[in-house]
This record gives sequence, C-alpha cells and structure tokens, in this order.
Amino acid sequence: MVATQPFRIAWVDRLAYPDRQTPNRPLVERAARLQPDRTHPSDEGASMSNNLIPSIALLAVFPTLSAGAAEGPVAQVVLGIHGGTGMPKHDMTPILEKAIRADLQRALEVGLAQLRNPRGTSLDAVEAAIRFLEDSPLFNSGKGAVFTHEGRNELDASIMEGKTKRAGAVASVMIVKNPISAARAVMEKSKHVMLIGRGAEVFATKAGLEIVDPAYFWTETRWKEIQDEWKKEAQPAPQEKRGAGHIVVPARQWGTVGAVALDQAGNLAAGTSTGGMTNKQFGRVGDSPIIGAGTYADNEACAVSATGHGEYFIRYAVAHDIAALMKYKGLSVDVAAAEVVEHKLKAAGGEGGVIALDAKGNFAMPHNTESMYRGYVTRDGKTKVLLYAD
Ligand code: ASP
Repeated sequence: MVATQPFRIAWVDRLAYPDRQTPNRPLVERAARLQPDRTHPSDEGASMSNNLIPSIALLAVFPTLSAGAAEGPVAQVVLGIHGGTGMPKHDMTPILEKAIRADLQRALEVGLAQLRNPRGTSLDAVEAAIRFLEDSPLFNSGKGAVFTHEGRNELDASIMEGKTKRAGAVASVMIVKNPISAARAVMEKSKHVMLIGRGAEVFATKAGLEIVDPAYFWTETRWKEIQDEWKKEAQPAPQEKRGAGHIVVPARQWGTVGAVALDQAGNLAAGTSTGGMTNKQFGRVGDSPIIGAGTYADNEACAVSATGHGEYFIRYAVAHDIAALMKYKGLSVDVAAAEVVEHKLKAAGGEGGVIALDAKGNFAMPHNTESMYRGYVTRDGKTKVLLYAD
C-alpha cells in the first residue's frame, strides 16, 4: 500500500467534490463545454450520437417481455461478456450495430489474450475485457456512463474469484477511469470487500490507478439522455396506460458491462461495471457492485455477471441464487440461470439478463428483454457476438 499522501487526497476532493454544498449542475455545465474524449476506437466515427438513440422511451408490456430464452448452454466456453440490455432492434442503426459488435469482439480478444498467457488468470481476463468496454463510449460503464439526476456520473463495479471467494467492489466513484481495476485493487490490496465514494477514490488514487477529471465521463449521447429525462420531469407525468390487466411501462436501455471467465487452472471469475441507471438519484447503488446480486463466482457452481434493473437483482440476490440452485439443487447452469431470469425475475417485473459460466465451460446467457449485447469465446478460440436473437 502506498503511504498516505494528504495533498493527493485534497486533489481527489477538488476533482470529485468541487461543489459539495451547492447544486451539482454547474459541474455538468462545465463538463458539457468540454469536448468528449477521443481516445477509444469507437470514437472515430461510430460513437452513439443523439440521432442514434430513441428520444422517446419505448413502451414494453411486462407479460410479453420477449426473451432470449430459447438459447441453450454453449459448451467449451472460456470467456463470456455482456454489454448490457440494449436498444430495441427497430431503433438500431447499421453503423451503431457494427460499432457495438466490433467493440464486443475486441473485448473478447483482449480477454482471450490474458487466458492464453501461461500466467494469465480468469481474473486477468475479466478485468481486461471489462476495462476495454469501460473505455468505449458505447456502453454504460466507464467512459460511456449515464448521468445521475443531478448530472454527474457515479460508477459502480465489482469482481470476484471463484476459487478463493475473494471479492472487491467500488460504488459511486466519479474520478476513477476504470472502476473494475479499483474493484480488483480493493480485493487484492485492502482487507475489505467494498469501498464507496470518496473513500474508494482516495484508495484508488493511492493504489496508483488512473484518476480523471469527472468531465472525462461526459458524452454527448448520455448528456442528451439526461436532458430528455429532465425535460420529461418538467412536463406533467404521462398517464399510466393500462389494458387487459397489463401495466405498460417505459422500456429502458441499461448497457452495463460484465465478464465471466474460466482459466487453464480451472478457476472461474466474474466482474461487472456500470454507470447505473440514467437519472438515478445521487448516491444510488445498483446491483453491479453487490456481490451475490450483480456478480458472483464460485468454482463449485458458476461465475455470473448480471445486467438489468438493479433493484430487482439486489432483492432477488440473482447472481448468488443461480449459483445456489446449481449447488444445492443440482441444476445445470443454463437451467438455473433461466429459472432465475425467465421465471423469478420476469414474474416480479425485473427486466434484465445474466451471463453465467460453469467450471466445465458451459455458458448460459438468458435475458427477459428484447436484447442483451453479449459474446463468448470457446476453448478453440472461436468467438461469437450476439445482440438480439443473433
Ligand atoms: N444493473 C445496473 C444497475 O441497476 C444497470 C444495468 O445493468 O445496466 O445499476
């Protein structure tokens, strides 16, 4: 552990909390004047611009949530990733789809390189794949994180190792470029499992992780999204539509990222990173950094990373529930994951999905939403990326 450096702590405070006592929007206005960062390949021409994003939330009916259900398990998988539940197919554009697929593909390659390294571990693969996705503006994590109601980006992440059950997590961090690495640092360099807010930021700074100005997380797409939310709030609430006993609710896109991996030593790992949900209340923490909800890994069962409406995933302890069904009920990974996502969660109205990998390399990716961006690599190096049913 690096020695305490008070001046750096003050620096963290200045970066992340310049307006602690005042409304937060001035910070956002400052950020909005800055140009978005242009370092990730996705920024070169395919970053999401406002016209690629539906400005009006679509309506989805809970009982008819389409499922990616029918996908059975895929055998011989060493690495699986997700990029969250995405936009409905009819809003997708060819250029955006190409960019998303390319980044998922690249994340798989980056993760696979770690697994092929003789000293590489499943943890290394999970961290590397997630870092790549965090640096992409196309996903709701790291660079592409959504804004809180107050107009800030508060990031959550967690990581877990299946062999040792060691885990690390950070929540509500605003200046850590790669929260997944901060989560790993908490696991490996602290005696705790989770650090939040300023404590996590100071810890990450001392651990030598890359610290950025909060404005780094500003992207045009997410900024427009939060402005739309603010505008909607300024208008009278839309009438809740009811029909045939169905409650109609606005569909959301989440875009959290996650990875699960199995290394040559037979060890599983899982990780998840997110900006949370657009327009969330500041200080809100979702399932992604909660071990057992958004992330879980146990060599005797499976590694899981989740995406979706976090409050449900926390209440239903989704990631651990899948592992528990395997461990105590003897269910296979695909049956256990489907039971939780397509039955328990769906019945409760909890939208989302998971990727789950068992210690034999069987991989499941059920989701009760129209889309879930996802991909996997098999032992022989073959990769597959899917956004919808394909
Ligand atoms: N599960 C995340 C949260 O609730 C959101 C997501 O998956 O995109 O914070």
